[in-house]
Amino acid sequence: MPARLTVLSGPSGVGKGSVVRSLRALAPRVWVSVSCTTRAPRPGETDGVEYYFVSPEQFAELVDAGELLEHAEFAGNCYGTPRRAVLDHLADGVPTLLEIELEGARQVRKSMPDARFVFLAPPSVDALMQRLYGRGTESADALVQRLERAQVELAAEEEFDEVIVNNDVEQAARDLAALIAEG
Ligand code: 5GP
Repeated sequence: MPARLTVLSGPSGVGKGSVVRSLRALAPRVWVSVSCTTRAPRPGETDGVEYYFVSPEQFAELVDAGELLEHAEFAGNCYGTPRRAVLDHLADGVPTLLEIELEGARQVRKSMPDARFVFLAPPSVDALMQRLYGRGTESADALVQRLERAQVELAAEEEFDEVIVNNDVEQAARDLAALIAEG
């Protein structure tokens, strides 16, 4: 039987990456899609693991060839989900998770309305702003873009089927695993 797609979204800095890392350990049966991005790798990131790191030209080719299920620009870089791998895993009955920003989630809502859309919310707006400042991985420009974008993304919470508040990463991962297990 085909499995269900889960889309996890939420503002930059809310901790989507950490929650997904915990989920991998808790629920190894869940396949987490690997996105393409034109962003440069951060220290410790490996091509094909966190992302496929591609040039802007390669990204444009993927878009033109219709190979991305969704794609969006975020803080000056392009991000997109390779379509084929997602559809293949779902057809094989493997519960599949996308961790993507808001615009991409909206595109998936249109093309795959049966997916479940989960919003990861910060405990408070202040906590989110502090996390974004504290991360220290972005240039000043990118940080300003991420802060602005975070405000827009926070306002979109009500578009989602489920909301998980990220008070505690392990608990949020357990909540997400439980939702995915429901099918
Ligand atoms: P980061 O640069 O911090 O890894 O990711 C920036 C934002 O891009 C995050 O909100 C992340 O969820 C989102 N993102 C990662 N991959 C994709 C993707 O394939 N599509 C879309 N639309 N957003 C993505």
